Amino acid sequence: MKAIVIGGGVIGSSIAYRMSEAGADVTLVEARRIGGGTSSTSYAWVNACEKLTSRAYFELNWAGVKSHRRLAEEFEGSNWLHRPGVVQWQGAGAEAAGFDEGDFDKLERLKEWGYPAEKIDTQTLAELEPDVDLSTFNPEGAIYYPEDGWLDGPVYAGAMVAAARQRFGLKVVYGQVTELLTRNGAAVGVKLANGETIEADTVINSSGRWANEAVGNADHELPLAPTVGLIAYTVSGDTSLRHGLRTPLVNCRPDGAGRILLRANDIDKTLPFDTEAVPSNPAAQELLDRVTQLMPALKGVHVEAVRTAIRPIPADGYSAIGPHPALSNYYVTVTHSGVTMAAFIGEGVTDEIVHGKSVSEFAEFRLSRFF
Ligand SMILES: Cc1cc2nc3c(=O)[nH]c(=O)nc-3n(C[C@H](O)[C@H](O)[C@H](O)COP(=O)(O)OP(=O)(O)OC[C@H]3O[C@@H](n4cnc5c(N)ncnc54)[C@H](O)[C@@H]3O)c2cc1C
Repeated sequence: MKAIVIGGGVIGSSIAYRMSEAGADVTLVEARRIGGGTSSTSYAWVNACEKLTSRAYFELNWAGVKSHRRLAEEFEGSNWLHRPGVVQWQGAGAEAAGFDEGDFDKLERLKEWGYPAEKIDTQTLAELEPDVDLSTFNPEGAIYYPEDGWLDGPVYAGAMVAAARQRFGLKVVYGQVTELLTRNGAAVGVKLANGETIEADTVINSSGRWANEAVGNADHELPLAPTVGLIAYTVSGDTSLRHGLRTPLVNCRPDGAGRILLRANDIDKTLPFDTEAVPSNPAAQELLDRVTQLMPALKGVHVEAVRTAIRPIPADGYSAIGPHPALSNYYVTVTHSGVTMAAFIGEGVTDEIVHGKSVSEFAEFRLSRFF
């Protein structure tokens, strides 16, 4: 089978790896840089504990978490998945999906569904994260996810592509797909901006937020509801922060060499699409102010860099994974939480396209709901 994967983000690289491993003759087409799209501007928390809006969505993300853990073990010396644990507490402004203010319903549901999570008190938080000002903590306690963590998206995508090239002969073409080639109601390849065409038996569109621009035909576009995300990165500091923290003030986590990555949902909601990705951006300064309230030891640290990204979100907020109902041999993967799901989507798409199996976790997330 000859396959084309459009886009070398965390998702496209996972598919390219697994499909090549399964014996398909795969060409990955990337317009810019492997892992350089939304996957490089992500909080990248690999989790299912924030995905409680439906059981099916939780299970899809949970499959993603488990798949990443297996995959990291498959690669000796893998360096992209960090799992020191994540602490989450609520308070005014807490707005995680399914997270009710003022109680621990969420914890009970997670335990029932088999997700590693426990309640911790102020003293335990002080031991886990000594730099946190305990007056910013919820005296009723926090939820600790001892097995959670995050993924370095570009490192992961690069490792998948390199391994697929070396081990299974993946071909990588740098160029921008501008059109799907179709014949008799089926995708037969892609056309690139330089006029070149590549033919294949199946085309998988994993170009994320750019998915509609790549198809060049309004009939095959997916309705999207993109939102803006801003992430600020501090300079390297001497903080002892080790875990991910999801707090009412700010979400933060280590980003290597003493840098801290910062973001907040309520701030993102105020941002226009042309938000400037510069350290002086008031949103970035607000994040810095909040993290300094959370950890006063950070006084004097400044924002070194800011990145913005547009989230690849289908119109109803849920993932879109599967064959396109209006065009044979054309498969689409557009989703938020794509970092969490990437490894599983790689396995699942390979099962569906190469092995002809239907993946039950994808069942609720087919594109047919939009067409
Ligand atoms: C602020 C923020 C926080 C987030 N936090 C989390 C989180 O905590 N956990 C989580 O799981 N997810 C999170 N996400 C979502 C997650 O980052 C995305 O779902 C994921 O990165 C999408 O990966 P992708 O491979 O689909 O897309 P991308 O990484 O964008 O990859 C698409 C690739 O396609 C290429 N491309 C585009 N158009 C073309 C074309 N025409 N031809 C060829 N190539 C093309 C691009 O260059 C790019 O490399 C967050 C996102 C944001 C913005």
